Amino acid sequence: MEMTEDLIRNVIQQVLSQMGTGGSSTNGSGPARPSGKDGVYPTADAAVVAAEAAFKHYRKRPLACRREAVRCIREICVGQAEELGRMELDETKIGRLDHKVAKLRDAIPRAPGVEYLRTDNWSGDDGITLTDYAPFGVIGAITPVTHSLPTLAGNAINMLAAGNTVVVNAHPSGAKVAAEGVRRFNRAIRQAIGLDDLITIIETPTLESAAALFDHKGVKLLVVTGGPAVARAALASKRRAVVAGPGNPPVVVDATADLENAAKSIVLGAAFDNNLLCIGEKQVFAVSDVFDRLMEAVGRHGGFRLNAAQIDALTRKAFTLGDDKHYHVNKDLVGNDAAVLARHAGVEAPKGTEIVYGETGADHLFVEHEQMMPFIPFVRVPDVDRAIDLAYASEHGYGHTAILHSRDTSVMSRMGKRMDCTVFVVNGPSIAGLGLGGEGVLSFSIAGPTGEGVTTPLTFCRQRRTAVVGTMRFV
Ligand code: NAD
Repeated sequence: MEMTEDLIRNVIQQVLSQMGTGGSSTNGSGPARPSGKDGVYPTADAAVVAAEAAFKHYRKRPLACRREAVRCIREICVGQAEELGRMELDETKIGRLDHKVAKLRDAIPRAPGVEYLRTDNWSGDDGITLTDYAPFGVIGAITPVTHSLPTLAGNAINMLAAGNTVVVNAHPSGAKVAAEGVRRFNRAIRQAIGLDDLITIIETPTLESAAALFDHKGVKLLVVTGGPAVARAALASKRRAVVAGPGNPPVVVDATADLENAAKSIVLGAAFDNNLLCIGEKQVFAVSDVFDRLMEAVGRHGGFRLNAAQIDALTRKAFTLGDDKHYHVNKDLVGNDAAVLARHAGVEAPKGTEIVYGETGADHLFVEHEQMMPFIPFVRVPDVDRAIDLAYASEHGYGHTAILHSRDTSVMSRMGKRMDCTVFVVNGPSIAGLGLGGEGVLSFSIAGPTGEGVTTPLTFCRQRRTAVVGTMRFV
């Protein structure tokens, strides 16, 4: 009989699910009694208790079970991307359908799983010492509205691969699609390995349920993906937290840049899901020698240029002056299509417009704020060092992401050092920094403030050392 991949998988599934159903619960590796909830619970406490019970069983299972759990999540994201992507857009009402689908179908398979785990070792005259990467237990995850299900799925792949279970508090405006994803993942995982509640979620999340998760004794590690307020709350929490906070990624274009590639890349990155990505290009500083040619090239690659009066009109709609006397981004415009922004500017953009753009000063509101809209301000600067200075100021010290277009290696070094960002992309679109058109693995949680960087299964592991003295060296 030919051993096809499907046949091998079926055999593995049968064995794993028999381990879960054949009375093996006496050794703790069998299933908890099915909860019937498919991972969706009314309170943080109930969700944590279920995930704790699940961890007791999961920790005793072999790595093959983790691989199966990860496979279930990946297959649902890829196979049901159209339906789930549409569900996410209908609920959140921000971003673009083609990119909501791409985030599940094309991006999620690049989130690393069990294959990323490793064991480090030393062997010598005194024996052997191993460092293993072990799970924490239950992880509490806070996810953003900008990529509700993709963040949940990417986090879950990394965390389950590392042997943890996870409780999710989604953003209230993306909670339904997140809960639906959790139901589907849990049903598939139960069928594959006979375990329930490896991923649980609070059905109606609130700031109170997030706070309850932050403080719950059963949660061993927090992973928070979101804007400034939640990042601050997580950094102030007593619980250890991996914090993936906000950004405001600047782009610098110098006189040596390949302008066609720069224009194409800026449009691609800034248009992605209508600029909802935290790594997406938000403002451009280009040297005056090439400024006009760059602007013209952006127009040929899907940009529609606004004049000064139109930018003023859009700015009045995009920002509101708060009672605190500060300007705030108007949430109604976040993640809107470029054509809608053009209408707010008082003009009709041609079909196929990916972004709207125009020339502004360095102190413009669109430069200073993380606007998350496909309008990109371009600032004309006399030289590249001034461009790097302004880029640094506009990033506000988040240390998140910066992008450079240049063929000059000394400029690459100067900007890389100065920006000190978690992700630095040279000569490509921002998404290349997450392995989409560049090398490397993908995550929707980029932990700048706490230093873990682009998260992987190893981010969610405790290191454990075993020293065997005087033996086990085989050479
Ligand atoms: P948000 O901060 O409004 O919400 C994020 C999550 O935090 C939600 O689940 C929300 O309910 C919760 N939350 C908000 N304030 C809280 C508080 N005080 N206590 C507890 N929970 C709280 O952000 P958003 O609009 O959903 O997402 C966009 C923001 O997230 C942007 O700033 C973006 O840069 C950032 N982001 C960062 C990354 C990254 O990897 N670094 C990834 C995606 C998004």
